[in-house]
Amino acid sequence: MIYDVLISAGHEGRPASCARFPQHHCNLGAAGERAWTPVVADAAAKILRSHGVSVVRLPADFSGRYQVDAAIYIHFDGSDPPCGSRASVGYPNKNDAVAAQAWRTLYQGYWPFGFQPDNFTTSLHQYYAYKQVVARDANLVLELGEITCPAQHAWLAPRLQWEGALLAYYLSALIKKGNVPKP
Ligand SMILES: [Zn+2]
Repeated sequence: MIYDVLISAGHEGRPASCARFPQHHCNLGAAGERAWTPVVADAAAKILRSHGVSVVRLPADFSGRYQVDAAIYIHFDGSDPPCGSRASVGYPNKNDAVAAQAWRTLYQGYWPFGFQPDNFTTSLHQYYAYKQVVARDANLVLELGEITCPAQHAWLAPRLQWEGALLAYYLSALIKKGNVPKP
């Protein structure tokens, strides 16, 4: 299936979808994460579509294979003890690093808590959905911050719609389609 952009909301649809995808290990995410990822994903998808960009908006687990210009899987990190993490980016291929750098540069202009190194966990580097997606410009897991850290949670909570708008701008600029303005 061919689209301009694929947007998956991390952990969305679980645990109901877990039985159909036992190979995905059914990680339910950090406390509160499953409520937030669809809000950001929906906001980004709505804006991109309103600018003529075709979007396939998926939950955590999905069947089939996709060919897109860019794919993002939206997450918020968790840490025990809290505040041991920050935002981060994961990707499978060396050429995704260019798009990852562009996202960090953009997000850093607003996000005050910094980034972990790219691919700092196995699940970032070997995310289960990468193998279902061929992405021309970017195939990225985006951890937008650590939801279990009170200071990061407080910064993120009122900005979920804005996160979606920033992602729509980023994706539009990346694939050079839609001319979505900066929020
Ligand atoms: Zn997650």
